[in-house]
Amino acid sequence: MTIMATSKIYLDNAATTPLDERVIDAMCEVFKNNYGNPSATHSIGRTAKATLENARKTIAGLINAEAREIVFTSGGTEADNMAIRCVVNDLGIKHIITSPIEHKAVLETCKILEKEGRCNVHLVSVDEKGNVDLAELEKLASNYPKSLISLMHANNEIATLLDYKKVSEIAKANECIFHSDTVQSMGHYAFDVKEFGADLLTCSAHKLHGPKGVGFLYVNHQLKLKSMITGGGQERNHRAGTENVAGIVGLEKALQLAFDQLAAEQKQIFGLKQYAIDQLCNQIEGIQINGETSFEKALYTVLSCSVPPQSNNALLLFKLDIAGICCSGGSACNSGAASESHVLEAIKHPQDRQAIRFSFGRFSTQKDIDEAVSALKSILENQTVQL
Ligand code: PLP
Repeated sequence: MTIMATSKIYLDNAATTPLDERVIDAMCEVFKNNYGNPSATHSIGRTAKATLENARKTIAGLINAEAREIVFTSGGTEADNMAIRCVVNDLGIKHIITSPIEHKAVLETCKILEKEGRCNVHLVSVDEKGNVDLAELEKLASNYPKSLISLMHANNEIATLLDYKKVSEIAKANECIFHSDTVQSMGHYAFDVKEFGADLLTCSAHKLHGPKGVGFLYVNHQLKLKSMITGGGQERNHRAGTENVAGIVGLEKALQLAFDQLAAEQKQIFGLKQYAIDQLCNQIEGIQINGETSFEKALYTVLSCSVPPQSNNALLLFKLDIAGICCSGGSACNSGAASESHVLEAIKHPQDRQAIRFSFGRFSTQKDIDEAVSALKSILENQTVQL
């Protein structure tokens, strides 16, 4: 069989999602008719300010937070940095408990702070499916009370979900501050910050059909954090810099749409993931699914699998790309890199297997999966890919 590269199949929604047209429309309205600087005191500035504050109020309402608890940022990386750096800088926290499978925005920030002598970092173990060892977490939190616990809700590479309720209980019992990177899960589950029980939550718009370069950090109003970025009093002195009003309106619209159609999308996308698992397991000999897979234990938009050792494994992603299949080897920033991802390393994923991450979104279809599985099967069987 020859694979023809016709139109692209996009199965890399954990890296980024295509913009929803309705988000584009909402943003265009701001670009065209609402260009004021929200800090300006004249009417055009005040209109932009009202739009900004309205978006903050809507977003806060969607996750049962207060408007003053939402700090807009340039995305997930900045929000993670802000959470960790501000807790260490402003609250004098000396210990951070995190895991080896966090996003680099968390892990590297923690390591840098430790290198600078600002705090000690303790890594809680994870099992071969990426589940945090909660007994060990409890021990670490009781050994280091009043520390920062930073654990992601949904792993971006292997989908495994955190038992956030248990983590929140452990944090509260030991007077720890709990930060969770919810970049991959916000908009994919109903969110109630009070039920979640974290003090800090990270969100990024481009993972939920919103624009790149915008997100927010939820900060429980009882935490008295200063600004990581200085040079202006925007965001109630929590983040200097002229606000990205169009991006924030895009984020607001994207979150609104996600929550409006949550139940239907969960059902549809989880169905696609199940279908993909079935097809992969039936058609690709020796395939292994990484991380947890059930709806309760795994993010339904992400599916990590790996194929048995083969001579052309190193070129697998490249060949899939040539066949028009856009997917990833691990996280987006790790794709194409020669070394294995830190997440796969932490779950002891065999190095001679090639991991592939398929991730689904609002616009994914069963046909996309059929084409991706068929292309993968052909490549593994050493058949020709025709450009
Ligand atoms: N955290 C997680 C879990 C992610 O998957 C990503 C993006 O890949 C980020 C943080 C960074 O978000 P952003 O791309 O908005 O900086």
